Amino acid sequence: MNITEIRSQFPVLDQQVYGKPLVYLDNAATTQKPLCVIERERDYYLHENCNIHRGVHYLSQKATEAYEHARQTVADFIHAKEAKEIIFTRGTTESLNLLATSFEHLFFSETINSQLSTDSQLSTDGEPVEPLNSQLKVLVTAMEHHSNLVPWQQMVQRHNGQLLVVPMDDKGVLDLEQYEKLLKEWPKVVAIAHISNVLGTINPVKEMVRMAHEYGIPVVVDGAQSIAHHSIDVQDMDCDFFVFSGHKMYAPMGIGGLYGKAEWLEQLPPYQFGGEMVDRVSFEKTTFNVLPYKFEAGTPNVGAALGLETAIQFMQGLNRKEVEQHEAQLLCSVIEKLAEIDGIRFIGEAERRSGLVSFVIDGVHPYDLGTIIDKMGVAVRTGHHCAEPVMTRFGIPGTVRASFALYNTLDEVDAFVNAVRKAATMLR
Ligand code: PMP
Repeated sequence: MNITEIRSQFPVLDQQVYGKPLVYLDNAATTQKPLCVIERERDYYLHENCNIHRGVHYLSQKATEAYEHARQTVADFIHAKEAKEIIFTRGTTESLNLLATSFEHLFFSETINSQLSTDSQLSTDGEPVEPLNSQLKVLVTAMEHHSNLVPWQQMVQRHNGQLLVVPMDDKGVLDLEQYEKLLKEWPKVVAIAHISNVLGTINPVKEMVRMAHEYGIPVVVDGAQSIAHHSIDVQDMDCDFFVFSGHKMYAPMGIGGLYGKAEWLEQLPPYQFGGEMVDRVSFEKTTFNVLPYKFEAGTPNVGAALGLETAIQFMQGLNRKEVEQHEAQLLCSVIEKLAEIDGIRFIGEAERRSGLVSFVIDGVHPYDLGTIIDKMGVAVRTGHHCAEPVMTRFGIPGTVRASFALYNTLDEVDAFVNAVRKAATMLR
């Protein structure tokens, strides 16, 4: 893997901040974009811009074809069975709000509800069976980003329901025995992060999906932190839903996706209403469009969807195994070198982890440390990382988090560790 060549495609990396070369280690928040992605979006606005699906004219048809091609590219990238199983959204947060809202409507629409309890809550051999009239529950884990927690929490609270939470140990590993016990409480949905944005833990999602399916419970996987780092195969994972953000995978902001198994997406009612998602409309009644359009009300972000396709093609153009190895090497190196700093405590020490390292240092506030190393040119994130319950679990106000992308180098790891060492000395 030629990192110099790769970095030349990310001009934003080649700059000085406060007179120091920029070391960008905030990739879990958002990755930088390669030239090809920026050019694709620009090209769309220069030559193809048009509203899609509605026009008979040349430009509209061209833009529609390009948009639907992008959908197919996303489907192939995550190994979805069909392109109609991909819904374009603004990103992970919107995808999760869509699911929480649609599930709520599903559960509280009587006709469909009776279908759900007969069709979906039975395992294939007919056992076990959910008790009738049970309280609405959703099962999440102790390490969820607020985006995969608050929408479900608000949804269950509106119906006097309950959020069930899978606990984790001190290393940041989920307790699967407790998970099994909580499944027996009949949550309607299980929602889990593939990779924690604070701890870096890679959760055993395939196993967790298998366990949930024994109870006929659908599983939503939050792939925000996994899709840029690991190959995703939603059919192999067998998850019912997989959500992600384009901007964390070298694509523009404002675009992301929701994968759902067609049989689930067919059942779920629409999330937003308006143009494009309808079939027939009268003042008395509206019928809805087919998948995937049923979930794409209004004018979508076509330019960003095309940018997302180009970002995927950019990743596919690299050897993904090599990229994974490179990122694993960065992580290994940073952990090894940080461990030598006095008073450091890693937050998240699972054996299977990826993409990032989180830590605190005795006597040093994460915010102060982040601010000082910023002046040395190093960009990291400090704080609760939109996962306050994780901070509470570990009894800390926040962490310093360094997160990696394929363009980072071992030299940057060294620059980061040196900056942390210097800052910690200054602050103690
Ligand atoms: N889930 C996880 C695990 C994340 O890391 C993030 C972003 N930090 C989100 C959800 C929310 O993503 P977005 O802001 O792109 O919607």
